[in-house]
Amino acid sequence: MEERLKKPGDHVVLLVGGVGGAKLALGLARVLPPGSLTIIVNTGDDFNHLGLHISPDVDTVMYTLSNLVNPKTGWGLNDDSLHAMRMVRRYGGPDWFSLGDKDLGTHLMRTQLLSEGLTLTEVTGKLCSALGVEHPLLPMSDDPVRTVLDTDQGTLNFQEYFVRERWQPVARDIRFEGSEKATPSEAVLAALEQASMIVIGPSNPFLSIDPILSVPGIRERIESASVPRVAISPIIAGKAVKGPTAKMMAEMGIDVSPVGVIDHYRNLLDGIILDEADGTLRDKIESIGMHTSAQQILMETQNDKIRLAVTLLHWVEENLS
Ligand code: GDP
Repeated sequence: MEERLKKPGDHVVLLVGGVGGAKLALGLARVLPPGSLTIIVNTGDDFNHLGLHISPDVDTVMYTLSNLVNPKTGWGLNDDSLHAMRMVRRYGGPDWFSLGDKDLGTHLMRTQLLSEGLTLTEVTGKLCSALGVEHPLLPMSDDPVRTVLDTDQGTLNFQEYFVRERWQPVARDIRFEGSEKATPSEAVLAALEQASMIVIGPSNPFLSIDPILSVPGIRERIESASVPRVAISPIIAGKAVKGPTAKMMAEMGIDVSPVGVIDHYRNLLDGIILDEADGTLRDKIESIGMHTSAQQILMETQNDKIRLAVTLLHWVEENLS
């Protein structure tokens, strides 16, 4: 029997951080069957807090795909409460990183399973299947990689910078401690090997995607991949939808536009979808040999997420394969 040619939507591999990337993950998960989508998630934000292993981006994507996420914040669990955190405060403990009562159950189970010797990939698989998440969600590595920022207010680990200091310090350097010794998991390598298309989600390039790319072997595999590699711009009309992406780009002297994003992802992309508001940049982007399309890329509703996922798949199929 003649073998069918691979189509871009046969096995989409999506790289993401938390809230922004999770929106596209949800859209793709709603239109692609299990087996056709693998999501590789940043774990540079992971940290040990109050004795627990917290994986904020993994949880954000897991809660989003299981429809349990708090719709107001885009992270944490819906209808959660903070009784435990109030007790922590009463004891004089650190309460700047908010952990909901229900959410604590996730961190307790993850910490327990890790202490029994399971890998983070195995633990994530167990938690996801208990919550009915059908598409594989893979931590970028089972080894610890920790994002650390040198800022004008000293060296801060990611959560200190992002949550405690509300990303106000000026970042001078960003390091991914442990990355040189980390390896991608077998599952991550297999997903990249079998990918029919690689998508960099609308996540913070410096704090969510770069940690993934810092794991030896991942960047190299994307650079040399012979399948379409595309991104959704995390910058719309010179601004970030949320978080410090635009602020960081300005501080680093990078053009706060999809052009700056492309430049940052040099050698990793064949195309980018930017917002209609940035449509005038298309000629400039195409002149550097990059495919581009101007669409509505702000995802507010469930429909927005599904529509963008469908648009992305069609666009790649029609123009990049
Ligand atoms: P994370 O990096 O995936 O954890 O996500 P954040 O929610 O912190 O946002 C990071 C980047 O994603 C920022 O540059 C945001 O502008 C971008 N982002 C968030 N929501 C959207 C969206 O609906 N559409 C697009 N295109 N970008 C988004």
